[in-house]
Amino acid sequence: MAEFANLPPERRRILEQCGTEAPFSSPLLDEHRSGTFVCAACGNPLFGSDTKFESGSGWPSFHDVIEKGAVISRTDTSHGMTRTEVTCAKCGGHLGHVFPDGPKPTGLRYCINGLALEFDPEA
Ligand SMILES: [Zn+2]
Repeated sequence: MAEFANLPPERRRILEQCGTEAPFSSPLLDEHRSGTFVCAACGNPLFGSDTKFESGSGWPSFHDVIEKGAVISRTDTSHGMTRTEVTCAKCGGHLGHVFPDGPKPTGLRYCINGLALEFDPEA
């Protein structure tokens, strides 16, 4: 897809080819400023810093999306597991997975590859 053509290979591997980055590799794990996490391919706002939490998983984790419809969830049965894949609603890029073991109030844990995100700090 056109959105992915100008991305560096490591980002294309995640967003276009549904790859997974190594845990604890993302600099966004230590991003604690206020702001918005957007899709690295198309700039679609995905997650707000207020929903980011320390999951200990090694991937940036959020308990909610920035607004309903920002991402699309669908069942993924690859690798012998049934998981829910999360993709960008605008460009279809692969972001990560969502698990039902997150904190309140949603009980969800969006486990997202840092390479699929860019951070826009609040001005
Ligand atoms: Zn996107």
